[in-house]
Amino acid sequence: MIAEAPSPIWAIGGGKDLAIEGGRPIRNTYLPYGRQSVSDQDIEAVAGVLRGDWLTQGPKVAELERAVAEAAGAGYGVAVANGTAALHAAVVAAGVGAGDEVITSPLTFVASANAALYAGAQVRFADVDPRTGNIDPEAVERAITPKTRAVVAVDFAGHPCDWDRLSRLALTHDICLIADGAHSLGANYRGRPVGSLADMTALSFHPVKLICAGEGGMVVTNSEELAGRAARFRTHGITRNAGEMEDDEGGWWYEMQELGFNYRMSDVQCALALSQLGRRQEFLERRRSIAAAYDQALRGWEMLEIPWRETDTEPAWHLYAIRLNLGRLSVGRREVFEALRAENIGVQVHYIPVHLQPYYRNSFGFKRGDFPRAEQFYERELSLPIFPAMRDGDVRDVADGVRKVLTRYRR
Ligand SMILES: *Cc1c(COP(=O)(O)O)cnc(C)c1O
Repeated sequence: MIAEAPSPIWAIGGGKDLAIEGGRPIRNTYLPYGRQSVSDQDIEAVAGVLRGDWLTQGPKVAELERAVAEAAGAGYGVAVANGTAALHAAVVAAGVGAGDEVITSPLTFVASANAALYAGAQVRFADVDPRTGNIDPEAVERAITPKTRAVVAVDFAGHPCDWDRLSRLALTHDICLIADGAHSLGANYRGRPVGSLADMTALSFHPVKLICAGEGGMVVTNSEELAGRAARFRTHGITRNAGEMEDDEGGWWYEMQELGFNYRMSDVQCALALSQLGRRQEFLERRRSIAAAYDQALRGWEMLEIPWRETDTEPAWHLYAIRLNLGRLSVGRREVFEALRAENIGVQVHYIPVHLQPYYRNSFGFKRGDFPRAEQFYERELSLPIFPAMRDGDVRDVADGVRKVLTRYRR
């Protein structure tokens, strides 16, 4: 538990004047919105690999695949170079190609949509649920056409999507359901872990995510066939399995049967991720207690909305996303963002809607107003720092900083 801050808060932290107006900041050092926690034990695990025989494709890859799949309630894991590669591999394993359409959320990192483009498919966006920022199953249903091959649904901020409704849609329309679980490893939905809810789940081990590998990612699935396709795709489309090959001219023989990539994750990276995976409960608990402390400190402040919570899900709290009630403020989100940065609180914004990126606007004709709920979510959103290594004092600084800035700008 994190103790409540004494009041009035700025008696101890910064002064009453905002740092951006020349006052004393809430804290002297910059607090980022997310960062990795690497322990001595993690470092030892990596050093062990560096002293050994394999830098890539050694035993740590399979060990990590088994461990992550088990943690995610899936039968198979395919480790890849990063979360984007995991999305790409999943989309290709789903059989997506030229002429197909893939539906995803506009409120996400560009990778969720780009994966479909890499595969030669068209992206269709479906607008979000305004409470959660997750893709709205009704909007998905409206976006389905005879060309729809897959849905990539993103568990925004680590809050699972409405997977039961998405699964029913996927079944009815014979569509492959892919979870972008970059935020939600460790989350539960109606008693089931993220990783067991979609046909395939793409995970990221980027340093701001739940567990880190430097760069790394994984496709987890319960389908042996999908796992096999993703595994071939990660290494040039090459197989050495006797049962799969057309010929066999000797012990050197392998076959490239389709076009793939070098998307492998190294043993060095896998050793770090494996050691981190052992600490995931500690990471999750810390994220949950920070979220609870923010809820307590900020609930009832009419200048903002705290994150929505579904009753039957346990989020992984990758982000703590507040939304400003701009009608109650004398300034816009930009001024609040800059004022908090000046207080040394590393707020961020998630996400610039993908359809508004110049590449998407210019290549496909998307425009402002196309997905109004994602746009409104974005316009009001601020992500507060949340990561396991934050100390109780850091958490209080953030809450104090938000209250200080919003009090000053209250209308
Ligand atoms: C981080 C992230 C990715 C991409 O993961 P990388 O490992 O950085 O390639 C994809 N989707 C979402 C929602 C993410 O947050």
